[in-house]
Amino acid sequence: MGVASTMGPSLLAVYNRHPVAFVAGRGARLTAEDGSEYLDFGSGVAVNALGHAHPHLVKALNEQAARLWHTSNLYRMPEGERLASRLTEATFADAVFFTNSGVEALECAFKMARRYHYSRGEGHRYRLITFEGAFHGRTLAAIAAGGQAKYLEGFGPKVEGFDQVPFGDPGAVEAAIGDETAGILLEPVQGEGGMRKFSAQELRRLRELCDRRGLLLVLDEVQCGMGRTGRLFAHEAAGITPDIMAIAKAIGGGFPLGACLATEAVAKAMPVGSHGSTYGGNPLAMAVGNAVLDVVLDEGFLDKVRRSSLRLRQHLARLRDAYPSLIEEIRGEGLMIGLKCTIPNLDVVQAAMQERLLTIAAGDNVVRLLPPLVLTDQEMSEGVERLDRALGRLAKAAVPNAIPAK
Ligand code: PLP
Repeated sequence: MGVASTMGPSLLAVYNRHPVAFVAGRGARLTAEDGSEYLDFGSGVAVNALGHAHPHLVKALNEQAARLWHTSNLYRMPEGERLASRLTEATFADAVFFTNSGVEALECAFKMARRYHYSRGEGHRYRLITFEGAFHGRTLAAIAAGGQAKYLEGFGPKVEGFDQVPFGDPGAVEAAIGDETAGILLEPVQGEGGMRKFSAQELRRLRELCDRRGLLLVLDEVQCGMGRTGRLFAHEAAGITPDIMAIAKAIGGGFPLGACLATEAVAKAMPVGSHGSTYGGNPLAMAVGNAVLDVVLDEGFLDKVRRSSLRLRQHLARLRDAYPSLIEEIRGEGLMIGLKCTIPNLDVVQAAMQERLLTIAAGDNVVRLLPPLVLTDQEMSEGVERLDRALGRLAKAAVPNAIPAK
């Protein structure tokens, strides 16, 4: 017999799902079971970066599905070798390990950071400094890294080796470094934490600190990477490079795919047998990953993301000015935008949903906008109109007969 739940009695009730089911999608549009059409400004939490049913991705997956699904990591996989060399050519990295999710990419990053110091005879250096508000996934190690009480509760002793410092307190990081510190782990733009970004200056300072103290800089670009901020990876804007980087979400465009990228110095510390995965880098995932890169690395793609971001932020600034009683700040980078709300963020998400616009709540009372990077002008205008209507209704409900400020 299933566990009682409001929906889907056989599903573990760990999600608070909205009672809508989508049956089809195209670009930024989704169609629900009842035929109603929604605009998707959440992209499955930054996954559908190329929108729904992108023809190039559909073709790549279909062709691969007709040829070969899985062989295992016991044999060479040419498509994986190709994707890895394209990723290393485009980034700081010299080696790539493929995973099926973001948290597995992080797990690989944790292990690599520890193993790097171990291989240099300093196995006692295994701790990572992390930041308040961080989110790195839901395995035992990742919830320890994220440090959020609500995710740790009830799961026994916290995995050892993570020291959290406040966000935006430059002195705190240095003070937290000890003999056992292996590195610093951060999201250049915190997603779940409320679209809070590290400034270029802060990233450069942390890179310099790592160099000075022999620490590894480990970046989690699972949400902010792969073009989301208008750069291939968010850290590029600061002109720095990490030692290790976890990516996922957009690299698979909806197909489960993640990767952990590392410099040669780090990769050398991971000999045969030190890590593995049954599915990681399987032919289906590799076909889609290569297809995503075809689009994202295409000339002009990232310029277009930056232009879209500018336009969308202009629209949103107008909404913030029109509804100062609801929105106090627009934050984020590229098409990773947060509306810091003055009323509960879930009210805004719900009101937008009633206008058939999908948005996502984040920490710090923020509403996340993560539209597909391929958002058209028409889709952007419609999305902004829907958000305007939702905010208009909320403003009216808060102050009857209120007229939005000009
Ligand atoms: N890191 C960040 C920054 C994320 O946003 C997420 C997921 O939202 C993860 C890690 C975990 O990724 P996954 O859910 O694919 O395991």
